[in-house]
Amino acid sequence: MEKIKNFGNVKSFWFFQAIAIIAAAGLAVFNFLYLRAENTSVFFVSLAINILLVFILAIRAWRLSGLFSDFKKDRDSFDTETEKKSSEIQEFEKITRQLVRRDLELARANQRLAELDAAKSDFVSTAAHQLRTPLTGIKWSYTALRDPKTGSLNEEQKQLLENGFAAITNIMDLINDLLNVAHLEEGKYEFKFERQSLLPIAIKAMAGLKLVANEKKITLFSKIPASGLPDINMDGEKMGLALTNILDNAIKYTPEGGRIDFSISQERGLIKIVVQDSGIGIPKDQKGRLFTKFFRADNAVGVQTSGTGLGLYMVKKIIDRHNGKIAVDSAEGKGATFIITLPEQSAKKS
Ligand code: ADP
Repeated sequence: MEKIKNFGNVKSFWFFQAIAIIAAAGLAVFNFLYLRAENTSVFFVSLAINILLVFILAIRAWRLSGLFSDFKKDRDSFDTETEKKSSEIQEFEKITRQLVRRDLELARANQRLAELDAAKSDFVSTAAHQLRTPLTGIKWSYTALRDPKTGSLNEEQKQLLENGFAAITNIMDLINDLLNVAHLEEGKYEFKFERQSLLPIAIKAMAGLKLVANEKKITLFSKIPASGLPDINMDGEKMGLALTNILDNAIKYTPEGGRIDFSISQERGLIKIVVQDSGIGIPKDQKGRLFTKFFRADNAVGVQTSGTGLGLYMVKKIIDRHNGKIAVDSAEGKGATFIITLPEQSAKKS
């Protein structure tokens, strides 16, 4: 709007300027004619042009002052705008400086956290190592005592021995999990990748748990292709540990007489492993914490008092190293399905 108004002023200024020039030229011509002819009608025309010229000059001056005041207004608003912008720029610079400072503080805090984390992992692995040696001795003694060749025990002694053996086994499981997690976090958990088939690893994991499943009268169904699965680049031992963990959980969290379905298939360049159980399931509001360290769902603690909450955390780390994915589909009381997908070209380069 402003621009159009100013443009109008400029146009009318030049219009009057042109008329003034024409009138001045006309006046000069008539003055010349009057001087030569001393004709009164020429004098009057000249006078009229003179008056017109004065009038035009007055309008021109008025237009000029209008233009000048518009220009002043524009300049004032430009000055205010510039001042506003410069104070905005200063504010922005202040915020940027604050952000840079925060960023630095955050980086320092992160570094400190990483150092503390490393110190904690170091402490955990030293403590676990120190504990494991005497505990191995104690477990060995219990194992020897359970052997009938060592001597006969009465029923009460046998029960006490079994309780002690179960407790020491749990503590050793926890210590082994802690050591594995500490090694994982310290980067000392070495992965040895080689191209191999998943089938023997899966079959071994299943066979290792058949006895426990039988004890709980849980039926294990498996759908594993006899052949045809492509070899993948993986650490067989770690993959075996991951599968054992998932299957062990399925047995642990499925009540007596339940069912577990274990399958391996091949889908669009992926190897898919599914472990589905008919157990207690995972509460909806706690599913997000699965795969985090020491997490145990409320319903699991009641069913299985012993447990470290480190198994799934380890499994996730192992699957991640193989460039795979792990997902869970479950609802409380409706069983759980763990799905692992591994790319046929597996394993991250470390
Ligand atoms: P742990 O079994 O020693 O408690 P995990 O890390 O293996 O530790 O599992 C973490 C938690 O995830 C379990 O405590 C349990 O709450 C839940 N969970 C894992 N597997 C199952 C499953 N098959 N059914 C129900 N809950 C499960």
